[in-house]
Amino acid sequence: MAVTILALLFLVLMTAIAFFGRGKQPQAGVNMQKCSLCLRPFEQRLLVERQVGDYRHLHFCRECILGLASDLGLKN
Ligand SMILES: [Zn+2]
Repeated sequence: MAVTILALLFLVLMTAIAFFGRGKQPQAGVNMQKCSLCLRPFEQRLLVERQVGDYRHLHFCRECILGLASDLGLKN
């Protein structure tokens, strides 16, 4: 179980790095979404989205992802 959670967090982290490593996308309207962990609103383009099960979508902000990486002992 713990290994599965760590693997999931690592996957989220790698996706976040890929996501934030891209150049700025042209903005076509502001679509706000709350982070699933800290519940603060962000533009959707600043969040990493993951689907859980058939319907539930979770969104993670940069700070929460980096916090999780820090909890794992990874350098930011
Ligand atoms: Zn957050």
